[in-house]
Amino acid sequence: MYLKRVEAIGFKSFAHKVNIGFTPGINGIVGPNGCGKSNITDAIKWVLGEQSTKNLRAQGMSDVIFAGSQDYKAQNMAQVSLVFDNSDKLLKLDYEEVEITRRLYRSGESEYSINKNSCRLKDIVDLLMDTGLGRDSLSMISQGAIANFAQAKPIERRGIFEEAAGVSKYKKRKIEALRKLEKTNENLLRISDIINELEDQIGPLKRQADNARKFLEKKERLDKIEVSVIVFDVANIERILIEAKENISTIKQELTINETKLLFDEGKLEQLKENIKTYDNEIAMLQAQLLSEVDKISSLEKQKSEEDSRDNENKSVEYIDGLKQKLNALAQELDGFNNNLKLMSVDLDELKISFEDKKSSYDDLKENIARKQNMLHNYQNKKGVLDNINDNKSNVYTGVKAIMEVKNSLSGIVGMVNDLFEVEEQFQDAISKSLAASLQNIVVESNNDAKRAVSFLKTNKAGRATFIPIDTIRARYINGDDIYVAQQSEGFIDVATNLIRFDEENRIVFEYLLNTTLVCDQIDNAVSLARALKNRYRVITLDGDIISVGGLVTGGKIKNDRGNILTIKKDLEKITEYISKITSEIQSDNEELYVQEQDLNNIRNKINQQNISIAKVEESISHRQHQFDDLKNEFESISNESYVQDFSQISSVVERLNSAKLNKERILSAIKSARETHSEINLDIENIETQLKSTRYFISDLEKKHSNINMEKATKEIELKNMLDRLANEYQLTIDGAKEQVVLELDMRLAKEEVVQLKREIKNLGMVNPLAIEEYERVSERFNFLSDQREDLETSKNDILDMINDTDKIMVEKFSKTIDDINKELPDTFSKLFGGGSVKLEYTDPSNLLETGIDIVAQPPGKSIKNLNLFSGGEKALIALSVLFAILKVRPIPLCILDEVEAALDQANVERFAKFLKEFSSETQFIVITHRPGTMEECDVLYGVTMQEKGVTKMISVHLEEAKDLASKE
Ligand code: ATP
Repeated sequence: MYLKRVEAIGFKSFAHKVNIGFTPGINGIVGPNGCGKSNITDAIKWVLGEQSTKNLRAQGMSDVIFAGSQDYKAQNMAQVSLVFDNSDKLLKLDYEEVEITRRLYRSGESEYSINKNSCRLKDIVDLLMDTGLGRDSLSMISQGAIANFAQAKPIERRGIFEEAAGVSKYKKRKIEALRKLEKTNENLLRISDIINELEDQIGPLKRQADNARKFLEKKERLDKIEVSVIVFDVANIERILIEAKENISTIKQELTINETKLLFDEGKLEQLKENIKTYDNEIAMLQAQLLSEVDKISSLEKQKSEEDSRDNENKSVEYIDGLKQKLNALAQELDGFNNNLKLMSVDLDELKISFEDKKSSYDDLKENIARKQNMLHNYQNKKGVLDNINDNKSNVYTGVKAIMEVKNSLSGIVGMVNDLFEVEEQFQDAISKSLAASLQNIVVESNNDAKRAVSFLKTNKAGRATFIPIDTIRARYINGDDIYVAQQSEGFIDVATNLIRFDEENRIVFEYLLNTTLVCDQIDNAVSLARALKNRYRVITLDGDIISVGGLVTGGKIKNDRGNILTIKKDLEKITEYISKITSEIQSDNEELYVQEQDLNNIRNKINQQNISIAKVEESISHRQHQFDDLKNEFESISNESYVQDFSQISSVVERLNSAKLNKERILSAIKSARETHSEINLDIENIETQLKSTRYFISDLEKKHSNINMEKATKEIELKNMLDRLANEYQLTIDGAKEQVVLELDMRLAKEEVVQLKREIKNLGMVNPLAIEEYERVSERFNFLSDQREDLETSKNDILDMINDTDKIMVEKFSKTIDDINKELPDTFSKLFGGGSVKLEYTDPSNLLETGIDIVAQPPGKSIKNLNLFSGGEKALIALSVLFAILKVRPIPLCILDEVEAALDQANVERFAKFLKEFSSETQFIVITHRPGTMEECDVLYGVTMQEKGVTKMISVHLEEAKDLASKE
């Protein structure tokens, strides 16, 4: 490597651009004083990174910019480029030529570049490091430096030897390491301070966090158990409520039965009491008749005995007559009885016919009731199914159901579309098909309400639902012309919105859903209407057939169309109506049946009575027939004539007496039977009264039970509502959501105890700061992070210390080796310059080779002084040069600039000096600024420096003689 060129402009006295080419070997620069020779070395130093203004012989850095002269004004920029031949690649760049440039503006802005690529000063320093070039190297030795070297303090000399030893790289590394070490120590201190502070915080925070964590654990457990307990209690209450409902319906049925019974028993009692009265009157009347009959008999008997005593003498004849009269009377009586019997049989037949009639109507009624009961049963079954569908809303999406259950705890829920309108039955199919799935959409007040409801469904995994936010939807309209077309079409009924009723505040919902749907009577008309409107609107028929926008036709009927909740609602209403109608019919039929049954019983009693009476009459007839037959035999044997009936012969007294006696008998038996019936009725009354008493008691008991159960039911319903509210408000859960969280293995009794226990424990925890957990985690994470960092810093501190140690070792080794090597060469260079004598480099502090100064112990021939200061200027220069050449022997460098270093030498020494230069010039390129012809003679090339224009340096190449001339011009 060698310096090929220096190009400068605006630097110090180089007002114009100069381009100085150098060659390998010795380049001499000559010229009178002050013409700018040293400015060349300054320029080279400046580019190589010199920062010291003193070393550049300036006050401030801007002093290096051309300051102006008599003829030229000052410049604003100084620029110098050094071009090195790098074919030996000593500079670690893959270029044959390396151009290093430095530029400075008066504004203070400065630039560096390598091969025209701008770079930093550091890049230049790094590039030159260990090449032997550089600020402190031997490559530039100025006029003063040679004298200073000898008389400098040992420690000041050290730099030269370090540079020669090539330790500057290590020194730099060490300095960097020390800087790093200092930074690391600072960081360590800072981190330790923070760690100490965190240690103070972490203890109390940990306690708080533990407390908060305990609280959260207990609270979570409490929530879980409490939710389970609530689910359990809800299930219990629901069971109780179902039982209560069942009990109430049974009690109601029993009440109806017993109240009906009571009513009829009371009616019956009244009837019986009426009957008693009738019998009382009859008995009284019969007794009056009996009395008059008894009177009649006694007067007739008296009359007869008078007649008997008068006719006693004609006894035998009369006896026969008497027999005949008796026979006649008996025959008459028998006749009477027989007539009676006939009449009674007719009555009996009539009773039987009437019984049969009534029985058949009774049977009809009974059959009718059975039929109705069957019907009722069917309806109830059907209602049960519909109720189930409606109640569980099994066809309603679970999400919709969940929202409707907790709608009071959510905000802005208006309701399910299905519940927000009414429609007449004739339009029901059309409207339900028009709305279809929208029936189960949920109308909400605003978009935010919808968002909240959706997030509720997500949290509870409660299903899905569609929401219609009133604040977001817009009404749709059919334009006026199209309406006109529709109105002219056959079968058009109306726009769907106009066929339903709803609250005005919900108008927009239905104008959004139905305002572009037209309703038509039947499919043919609907198709032509849709076509007339170019299939731009949906048309729907009363049957629910749909012509969609675009003209698609959908129709038909689904068996058991359960999906239609609108129909279910209507069906349910209808069936409930039927059930209540049939129930009341059955009730009144039952009442009628009861009356008929009573009637039938009465007739049956009467038939029995009649049968008994007939039997009695028949007995009387047979008794009298015997009497009659006996008397007839007696009469026929006495009178020897056969008996012929002759009622005219019966005397009127006997006749009347007999008839009176007969009457008396009849009345007596009537009284007896009336009395019997009377007492029977009385017995019935007693029975009914006891029955009434017990029925009334039973009814009041039932009523009491009913009211108790009702009360319990109401209480349980409130309890249930409270529990569901609690779930919704405290846990944001529906009962279904809650069921999913139930802890199955819980024993409810223990769970309830645990709830109490947990609540107590939570209370005992006192004030809890839930933020402490996060805070503790944050602080301890930071603590751990910083502790890790501290560890890392300590490791890297140790690494740095190790590295510094290693560097120190290397530096000591290289340094001491270099000093030893120089000491080997030094006596030779010294004695060649001095013609003998001895010299040696010595450490001022051998125990500390890293910092020791270097002493030069020199003894020129014949001299005994050792203090360098006492040597002459020339001697000092010779000593310094002998050291310089020794160093060059030990460590050759590519470039060495010597600025008038031989000025103080005598002619003979200049020649010796020049010989040395020649000797080293094969390895080192020399640029020598000199006034001495001896030196000039050894130069390979010579440059003259002049100031033809005042204050502006000019370079010219000169021959030896010209050079000598130039030098002597001073
Ligand atoms: P000597 O042989 O005495 O050592 P020299 O040839 O080495 O002299 P230099 O020291 O290189 O001379 O040059 C000094 C000259 O440069 C002076 O004339 C000085 O005025 C001029 N100079 C220094 N800085 C500037 C500047 N910024 N602008 C213009 N001229 C400058």
